[in-house]
Amino acid sequence: MNAEPRSFEQPIYVTRPMLPELAVFTKHLEAIWESAVLSNGGPQHVELEKRLHAHLGEGHIALFNNGTNALMTAVRALDLSGEVITTPFTFAATPHVLAWHGIRPVFVDIEERSMTLDPARIEAAITERTTGILAVHVYGNPCDVEEIERIARKHHLKVLYDGAHAFGTKVNGRAIASYGDATMFSFHATKLFHTAEGGAVVTNDEALKRRMELLKNFGIADEVTVKAVGINSKMNEIQAALGLCLVDEIAAEKAKRFALAETYRHDLSGIPGITTSRRLDLETDSLQYYCLRIDRNLTGFSRDHVYNELKKFNVFARRYFYPLCSQYEPYREYADSRSDNLPVANRAGDQVLCLPFYGHLGTANAQQICAIIRHILTGRAEAHVHAA
Ligand SMILES: *Cc1c(COP(=O)(O)O)cnc(C)c1O
Repeated sequence: MNAEPRSFEQPIYVTRPMLPELAVFTKHLEAIWESAVLSNGGPQHVELEKRLHAHLGEGHIALFNNGTNALMTAVRALDLSGEVITTPFTFAATPHVLAWHGIRPVFVDIEERSMTLDPARIEAAITERTTGILAVHVYGNPCDVEEIERIARKHHLKVLYDGAHAFGTKVNGRAIASYGDATMFSFHATKLFHTAEGGAVVTNDEALKRRMELLKNFGIADEVTVKAVGINSKMNEIQAALGLCLVDEIAAEKAKRFALAETYRHDLSGIPGITTSRRLDLETDSLQYYCLRIDRNLTGFSRDHVYNELKKFNVFARRYFYPLCSQYEPYREYADSRSDNLPVANRAGDQVLCLPFYGHLGTANAQQICAIIRHILTGRAEAHVHAA
Protein backbone atom coordinates (compact mmCIF):
# COMPACT_ATOMS: atom_id res chain seq x y z
CA MET A 1 0.00 0.00 0.00
CA ASN A 2 1.11 3.53 -0.69
CA ALA A 3 1.11 6.10 2.07
CA GLU A 4 -0.96 9.17 1.38
CA PRO A 5 1.31 12.13 0.60
CA ARG A 6 1.42 14.75 3.33
CA SER A 7 -0.63 17.95 3.19
CA PHE A 8 0.91 21.39 3.23
CA GLU A 9 0.78 23.10 6.61
CA GLN A 10 0.09 26.51 5.05
CA PRO A 11 -2.25 27.04 2.08
CA ILE A 12 -0.42 27.10 -1.26
CA TYR A 13 -1.98 29.51 -3.74
CA VAL A 14 -1.51 29.71 -7.48
CA THR A 15 0.73 32.75 -7.23
CA ARG A 16 2.50 35.05 -4.84
CA PRO A 17 3.85 38.47 -5.84
CA MET A 18 7.53 39.34 -6.08
CA LEU A 19 8.39 41.75 -3.28
CA PRO A 20 11.53 43.88 -3.19
CA GLU A 21 13.61 44.35 -0.05
CA LEU A 22 11.58 46.84 1.95
CA ALA A 23 14.66 49.05 2.39
CA VAL A 24 15.03 49.30 -1.41
CA PHE A 25 11.43 50.46 -1.77
CA THR A 26 11.89 52.92 1.11
CA LYS A 27 14.81 54.53 -0.75
CA HIS A 28 12.47 55.24 -3.67
CA LEU A 29 9.79 56.56 -1.32
CA GLU A 30 12.33 58.95 0.18
CA ALA A 31 13.05 60.33 -3.29
CA ILE A 32 9.32 60.73 -3.91
CA TRP A 33 8.84 62.53 -0.57
CA GLU A 34 11.77 64.78 -1.42
CA SER A 35 10.25 65.75 -4.79
CA ALA A 36 6.65 65.89 -3.50
CA VAL A 37 5.56 64.67 -6.95
CA LEU A 38 3.07 61.82 -6.58
CA SER A 39 1.66 61.43 -10.10
CA ASN A 40 1.34 62.95 -13.59
CA GLY A 41 4.44 61.49 -15.18
CA GLY A 42 7.00 62.22 -12.44
CA PRO A 43 10.61 60.98 -12.36
CA GLN A 44 9.76 57.39 -11.25
CA HIS A 45 7.26 57.08 -14.12
CA VAL A 46 9.74 58.46 -16.66
CA GLU A 47 12.44 56.07 -15.45
CA LEU A 48 10.18 52.99 -15.44
CA GLU A 49 9.00 53.71 -18.98
CA LYS A 50 12.66 53.75 -20.08
CA ARG A 51 13.63 50.59 -18.19
CA LEU A 52 10.74 48.57 -19.63
CA HIS A 53 12.04 48.75 -23.22
CA ALA A 54 14.52 45.99 -22.36
CA HIS A 55 11.54 43.68 -21.73
CA LEU A 56 8.77 44.98 -23.99
CA GLY A 57 10.73 46.01 -27.08
CA GLU A 58 11.46 49.19 -28.98
CA GLY A 59 7.84 50.30 -29.42
CA HIS A 60 6.39 53.35 -27.65
CA ILE A 61 5.33 52.51 -24.10
CA ALA A 62 2.43 54.20 -22.29
CA LEU A 63 1.97 53.38 -18.58
CA PHE A 64 -1.42 53.04 -16.85
CA ASN A 65 -2.92 52.57 -13.38
CA ASN A 66 -4.05 49.03 -14.28
CA GLY A 67 -4.22 46.71 -17.27
CA THR A 68 -7.96 47.01 -17.74
CA ASN A 69 -7.82 50.81 -18.00
CA ALA A 70 -4.85 50.43 -20.32
CA LEU A 71 -7.03 48.31 -22.64
CA MET A 72 -9.97 50.73 -22.20
CA THR A 73 -7.78 53.62 -23.28
CA ALA A 74 -6.30 51.68 -26.21
CA VAL A 75 -9.77 50.68 -27.49
CA ARG A 76 -10.77 54.37 -27.49
CA ALA A 77 -7.47 55.53 -28.99
CA LEU A 78 -7.84 52.99 -31.82
CA ASP A 79 -11.42 54.21 -32.38
CA LEU A 80 -12.87 50.71 -32.27
CA SER A 81 -16.67 50.52 -32.58
CA GLY A 82 -19.48 48.23 -33.77
CA GLU A 83 -18.21 44.66 -33.39
CA VAL A 84 -14.80 43.35 -32.34
CA ILE A 85 -13.78 39.71 -32.67
CA THR A 86 -12.37 38.19 -29.51
CA THR A 87 -11.87 34.95 -27.57
CA PRO A 88 -14.08 33.49 -24.85
CA PHE A 89 -11.05 31.80 -23.24
CA THR A 90 -9.73 34.75 -21.23
CA PHE A 91 -10.15 36.85 -18.12
CA ALA A 92 -13.34 38.95 -17.72
CA ALA A 93 -11.53 42.22 -18.54
CA THR A 94 -11.07 41.29 -22.23
CA PRO A 95 -14.72 41.30 -23.38
CA HIS A 96 -15.69 43.85 -20.70
CA VAL A 97 -13.51 46.64 -22.14
CA LEU A 98 -15.35 46.23 -25.43
CA ALA A 99 -18.85 46.09 -23.93
CA TRP A 100 -18.05 49.06 -21.63
CA HIS A 101 -17.44 51.11 -24.81
CA GLY A 102 -20.73 49.90 -26.32
CA ILE A 103 -18.89 47.54 -28.67
CA ARG A 104 -20.29 44.06 -29.24
CA PRO A 105 -17.66 41.40 -28.43
CA VAL A 106 -18.03 38.57 -30.96
CA PHE A 107 -16.71 35.26 -29.65
CA VAL A 108 -14.66 33.04 -31.94
CA ASP A 109 -13.26 29.64 -30.97
CA ILE A 110 -9.65 28.94 -29.98
CA GLU A 111 -6.88 26.66 -31.25
CA GLU A 112 -6.41 23.37 -29.47
CA ARG A 113 -2.70 23.70 -28.68
CA SER A 114 -2.06 27.37 -27.92
CA MET A 115 -5.60 27.99 -26.60
CA THR A 116 -5.48 31.38 -28.37
CA LEU A 117 -7.94 32.76 -30.98
CA ASP A 118 -8.13 30.41 -33.98
CA PRO A 119 -7.34 32.46 -37.12
CA ALA A 120 -9.07 29.86 -39.31
CA ARG A 121 -12.40 30.85 -37.71
CA ILE A 122 -12.02 34.64 -37.74
CA GLU A 123 -13.13 35.41 -41.29
CA ALA A 124 -16.52 33.69 -40.92
CA ALA A 125 -17.29 36.04 -38.00
CA ILE A 126 -16.45 39.29 -39.83
CA THR A 127 -19.46 41.49 -40.73
CA GLU A 128 -19.73 45.03 -42.13
CA ARG A 129 -19.80 46.24 -38.49
CA THR A 130 -16.48 44.60 -37.54
CA THR A 131 -13.71 47.12 -36.78
CA GLY A 132 -11.08 45.06 -35.04
CA ILE A 133 -9.67 41.92 -33.45
CA LEU A 134 -8.87 41.73 -29.72
CA ALA A 135 -6.78 38.58 -29.29
CA VAL A 136 -5.19 37.26 -26.08
CA HIS A 137 -1.75 35.66 -25.64
CA VAL A 138 -3.20 33.16 -23.14
CA TYR A 139 -0.73 32.05 -20.41
CA GLY A 140 1.89 33.85 -22.52
CA ASN A 141 1.33 31.47 -25.49
CA PRO A 142 1.72 33.72 -28.51
CA CYS A 143 -1.27 34.01 -30.84
CA ASP A 144 -0.74 33.15 -34.51
CA VAL A 145 0.39 36.76 -35.02
CA GLU A 146 1.32 36.40 -38.70
CA GLU A 147 -2.02 34.93 -39.73
CA ILE A 148 -4.02 37.42 -37.64
CA GLU A 149 -2.05 40.23 -39.30
CA ARG A 150 -2.80 38.85 -42.77
CA ILE A 151 -6.56 38.64 -42.07
CA ALA A 152 -6.64 42.09 -40.47
CA ARG A 153 -4.86 43.67 -43.44
CA LYS A 154 -7.20 41.98 -45.92
CA HIS A 155 -10.33 43.24 -44.11
CA HIS A 156 -8.94 46.62 -42.90
CA LEU A 157 -9.30 45.71 -39.22
CA LYS A 158 -7.31 47.01 -36.24
CA VAL A 159 -5.50 44.44 -34.11
CA LEU A 160 -5.25 44.91 -30.35
CA TYR A 161 -3.56 42.25 -28.21
CA ASP A 162 -4.31 41.54 -24.58
CA GLY A 163 -0.80 40.56 -23.54
CA ALA A 164 -1.56 40.58 -19.79
CA HIS A 165 0.22 37.21 -19.54
CA ALA A 166 2.95 37.87 -22.09
CA PHE A 167 5.48 40.12 -20.33
CA GLY A 168 8.83 39.66 -22.06
CA THR A 169 7.52 37.11 -24.58
CA LYS A 170 9.29 36.92 -27.94
CA VAL A 171 7.96 35.53 -31.24
CA ASN A 172 10.14 34.87 -34.30
CA GLY A 173 12.99 36.59 -32.44
CA ARG A 174 10.92 39.78 -32.02
CA ALA A 175 9.26 41.35 -28.98
CA ILE A 176 5.64 40.19 -29.01
CA ALA A 177 4.40 43.81 -28.91
CA SER A 178 5.98 44.46 -32.30
CA TYR A 179 2.91 42.71 -33.78
CA GLY A 180 -0.50 44.33 -34.12
CA ASP A 181 -1.51 47.96 -33.65
CA ALA A 182 -1.03 47.81 -29.88
CA THR A 183 -0.42 45.32 -27.06
CA MET A 184 -1.54 45.65 -23.44
CA PHE A 185 0.50 44.29 -20.52
CA SER A 186 -0.89 44.01 -16.98
CA PHE A 187 1.29 44.80 -13.97
CA HIS A 188 -1.21 43.47 -11.44
CA ALA A 189 0.29 41.78 -8.36
CA THR A 190 -0.65 38.36 -9.77
CA LYS A 191 1.39 38.94 -12.93
CA LEU A 192 5.09 38.09 -13.39
CA PHE A 193 6.25 41.73 -13.28
CA HIS A 194 4.01 44.04 -11.28
CA THR A 195 3.50 47.48 -9.77
CA ALA A 196 0.83 46.23 -7.28
CA GLU A 197 -1.73 47.50 -9.82
CA GLY A 198 -0.63 48.80 -13.18
CA GLY A 199 -0.30 48.22 -16.86
CA ALA A 200 1.12 49.39 -20.16
CA VAL A 201 0.27 49.61 -23.82
CA VAL A 202 3.08 49.21 -26.34
CA THR A 203 2.69 50.38 -29.94
CA ASN A 204 4.88 51.03 -32.96
CA ASP A 205 2.66 53.99 -33.84
CA GLU A 206 3.92 57.22 -32.30
CA ALA A 207 0.63 59.04 -32.97
CA LEU A 208 -1.26 56.31 -31.13
CA LYS A 209 1.06 56.68 -28.13
CA ARG A 210 0.41 60.46 -28.11
CA ARG A 211 -3.35 59.87 -28.33
CA MET A 212 -3.24 57.43 -25.39
CA GLU A 213 -1.22 59.92 -23.31
CA LEU A 214 -3.92 62.53 -24.03
CA LEU A 215 -6.83 60.20 -23.24
CA LYS A 216 -5.33 58.82 -20.02
CA ASN A 217 -5.22 62.37 -18.60
CA PHE A 218 -8.82 63.57 -19.26
CA GLY A 219 -7.99 64.60 -22.85
CA ILE A 220 -6.17 67.64 -21.46
CA ALA A 221 -3.65 69.02 -23.97
CA ASP A 222 -2.67 72.10 -21.96
CA GLU A 223 -4.05 74.44 -19.29
CA VAL A 224 -6.78 75.78 -21.54
CA THR A 225 -7.27 73.00 -24.11
CA VAL A 226 -9.24 69.78 -23.67
CA LYS A 227 -9.08 67.95 -26.98
CA ALA A 228 -10.98 64.72 -26.40
CA VAL A 229 -13.28 62.80 -24.07
CA GLY A 230 -10.59 61.39 -21.81
CA ILE A 231 -10.41 59.38 -18.62
CA ASN A 232 -7.95 59.24 -15.74
CA SER A 233 -5.91 56.09 -16.14
CA LYS A 234 -2.44 57.32 -15.19
CA MET A 235 0.11 55.28 -13.26
CA ASN A 236 1.22 57.11 -10.10
CA GLU A 237 4.74 57.53 -8.71
CA ILE A 238 4.38 54.96 -5.92
CA GLN A 239 3.31 52.29 -8.42
CA ALA A 240 6.20 53.22 -10.72
CA ALA A 241 8.66 53.12 -7.80
CA LEU A 242 7.58 49.58 -6.91
CA GLY A 243 8.10 48.61 -10.53
CA LEU A 244 11.60 50.11 -10.54
CA CYS A 245 12.45 47.99 -7.47
CA LEU A 246 11.32 44.84 -9.31
CA VAL A 247 12.67 45.19 -12.87
CA ASP A 248 16.04 43.86 -11.78
CA GLU A 249 14.41 40.88 -10.01
CA ILE A 250 12.64 39.53 -13.09
CA ALA A 251 15.50 37.34 -14.36
CA ALA A 252 15.93 35.58 -10.98
CA GLU A 253 12.16 35.06 -10.63
CA LYS A 254 11.96 33.61 -14.14
CA ALA A 255 14.87 31.24 -13.51
CA LYS A 256 13.10 29.85 -10.44
CA ARG A 257 9.83 29.46 -12.35
CA PHE A 258 11.68 27.71 -15.14
CA ALA A 259 12.95 25.13 -12.64
CA LEU A 260 9.38 24.61 -11.39
CA ALA A 261 8.12 24.14 -14.95
CA GLU A 262 10.76 21.46 -15.55
CA THR A 263 9.74 19.72 -12.30
CA TYR A 264 6.05 19.72 -13.19
CA ARG A 265 6.79 18.48 -16.68
CA HIS A 266 9.07 15.71 -15.49
CA ASP A 267 7.07 14.53 -12.48
CA LEU A 268 3.66 14.59 -14.18
CA SER A 269 4.68 13.02 -17.48
CA GLY A 270 3.46 9.55 -18.22
CA ILE A 271 0.09 9.82 -16.46
CA PRO A 272 -2.45 8.88 -19.15
CA GLY A 273 -4.87 11.77 -19.78
CA ILE A 274 -2.62 14.46 -18.29
CA THR A 275 -1.17 16.96 -20.75
CA THR A 276 1.59 19.09 -19.27
CA SER A 277 2.46 22.49 -20.71
CA ARG A 278 4.64 22.63 -23.82
CA ARG A 279 8.32 22.97 -22.88
CA LEU A 280 8.73 26.61 -21.84
CA ASP A 281 11.75 28.66 -22.90
CA LEU A 282 13.49 30.89 -20.39
CA GLU A 283 14.49 33.42 -23.07
CA THR A 284 11.29 33.71 -25.10
CA ASP A 285 8.41 32.78 -22.75
CA SER A 286 6.85 34.85 -19.99
CA LEU A 287 6.54 31.97 -17.49
CA GLN A 288 3.33 33.58 -16.26
CA TYR A 289 1.29 30.41 -15.66
CA TYR A 290 1.78 26.66 -15.63
CA CYS A 291 -1.29 24.97 -17.02
CA LEU A 292 -2.22 21.27 -17.10
CA ARG A 293 -5.02 19.67 -19.04
CA ILE A 294 -6.88 16.76 -17.48
CA ASP A 295 -8.87 14.57 -19.84
CA ARG A 296 -11.59 12.86 -17.85
CA ASN A 297 -12.04 10.15 -20.48
CA LEU A 298 -8.46 8.98 -20.01
CA THR A 299 -7.77 9.69 -16.32
CA GLY A 300 -11.19 8.59 -15.08
CA PHE A 301 -11.38 11.79 -13.02
CA SER A 302 -12.73 15.21 -13.90
CA ARG A 303 -10.60 18.36 -13.61
CA ASP A 304 -13.00 19.53 -10.89
CA HIS A 305 -12.36 16.35 -8.90
CA VAL A 306 -8.61 17.00 -9.00
CA TYR A 307 -9.14 20.70 -8.18
CA ASN A 308 -11.32 19.84 -5.15
CA GLU A 309 -9.09 16.99 -3.91
CA LEU A 310 -6.03 19.28 -4.07
CA LYS A 311 -7.75 21.63 -1.63
CA LYS A 312 -7.81 18.83 0.96
CA PHE A 313 -4.01 18.91 0.78
CA ASN A 314 -4.05 22.73 1.15
CA VAL A 315 -3.21 23.31 -2.53
CA PHE A 316 -5.38 25.96 -4.22
CA ALA A 317 -4.95 25.56 -7.98
CA ARG A 318 -7.06 27.75 -10.31
CA ARG A 319 -9.37 26.84 -13.20
CA TYR A 320 -8.20 29.53 -15.63
CA PHE A 321 -10.37 30.02 -17.71
CA TYR A 322 -13.54 28.51 -16.39
CA PRO A 323 -16.29 29.48 -16.87
CA LEU A 324 -15.72 30.92 -20.34
CA CYS A 325 -16.53 34.62 -20.82
CA SER A 326 -19.24 33.52 -23.28
CA GLN A 327 -21.02 31.94 -20.27
CA TYR A 328 -21.12 35.20 -18.26
CA GLU A 329 -24.57 36.74 -17.75
CA PRO A 330 -24.06 39.77 -20.02
CA TYR A 331 -22.87 37.61 -22.95
CA ARG A 332 -24.48 34.19 -22.73
CA GLU A 333 -27.52 35.02 -24.88
CA TYR A 334 -25.35 35.87 -27.91
CA ALA A 335 -25.71 33.45 -30.83
CA ASP A 336 -21.91 33.14 -30.97
CA SER A 337 -21.81 32.16 -27.26
CA ARG A 338 -23.51 28.83 -27.95
CA SER A 339 -21.25 25.93 -27.10
CA ASP A 340 -21.56 24.44 -30.61
CA ASN A 341 -19.83 27.60 -31.90
CA LEU A 342 -17.05 27.23 -29.30
CA PRO A 343 -16.34 23.50 -28.91
CA VAL A 344 -12.57 23.80 -28.42
CA ALA A 345 -12.89 26.57 -25.82
CA ASN A 346 -15.58 24.65 -23.96
CA ARG A 347 -13.40 21.54 -23.81
CA ALA A 348 -10.39 23.56 -22.65
CA GLY A 349 -12.51 25.30 -20.01
CA ASP A 350 -13.46 21.90 -18.62
CA GLN A 351 -9.90 20.51 -18.65
CA VAL A 352 -7.46 23.25 -17.62
CA LEU A 353 -5.89 23.57 -14.21
CA CYS A 354 -3.23 26.16 -13.37
CA LEU A 355 -0.79 24.95 -10.74
CA PRO A 356 1.01 27.06 -8.10
CA PHE A 357 3.74 28.86 -10.01
CA TYR A 358 5.96 31.46 -8.36
CA GLY A 359 9.66 31.51 -7.52
CA HIS A 360 9.22 31.36 -3.78
CA LEU A 361 7.42 27.98 -4.05
CA GLY A 362 10.65 26.05 -4.60
CA THR A 363 11.29 22.73 -6.31
CA ALA A 364 10.66 20.52 -3.26
CA ASN A 365 7.13 21.89 -2.88
CA ALA A 366 6.48 21.46 -6.61
CA GLN A 367 7.55 17.81 -6.29
CA GLN A 368 5.19 17.44 -3.37
CA ILE A 369 2.31 18.89 -5.44
CA CYS A 370 3.11 16.38 -8.21
CA ALA A 371 3.08 13.52 -5.70
CA ILE A 372 -0.36 14.66 -4.51
CA ILE A 373 -1.71 14.85 -8.07
CA ARG A 374 -0.34 11.37 -8.83
CA HIS A 375 -1.92 10.08 -5.66
CA ILE A 376 -5.30 11.63 -6.62
CA LEU A 377 -5.20 10.17 -10.13
CA THR A 378 -3.44 6.85 -9.70
CA GLY A 379 -3.49 6.03 -5.99
CA ARG A 380 0.31 6.11 -5.97
CA ALA A 381 2.48 9.07 -5.12
CA GLU A 382 5.73 7.81 -6.70
CA ALA A 383 6.86 9.50 -9.88
CA HIS A 384 8.24 6.27 -11.37
CA VAL A 385 7.24 2.67 -10.91
CA HIS A 386 10.35 0.48 -10.86
CA ALA A 387 10.13 -3.13 -11.92
CA ALA A 388 11.04 -5.54 -9.12
C1 LIG B 1 -4.88 40.33 -15.43
C2 LIG B 1 -5.57 40.36 -16.73
C3 LIG B 1 -6.19 41.53 -17.23
C4 LIG B 1 -6.44 42.75 -16.40
O1 LIG B 1 -5.37 43.33 -15.86
P1 LIG B 1 -5.51 44.27 -14.57
O2 LIG B 1 -4.16 44.90 -14.52
O3 LIG B 1 -5.79 43.37 -13.40
O4 LIG B 1 -6.61 45.25 -14.80
C5 LIG B 1 -6.69 41.52 -18.52
N1 LIG B 1 -6.62 40.43 -19.29
C6 LIG B 1 -6.09 39.28 -18.84
C7 LIG B 1 -6.04 38.10 -19.77
C8 LIG B 1 -5.57 39.20 -17.54
O5 LIG B 1 -5.06 38.04 -17.10
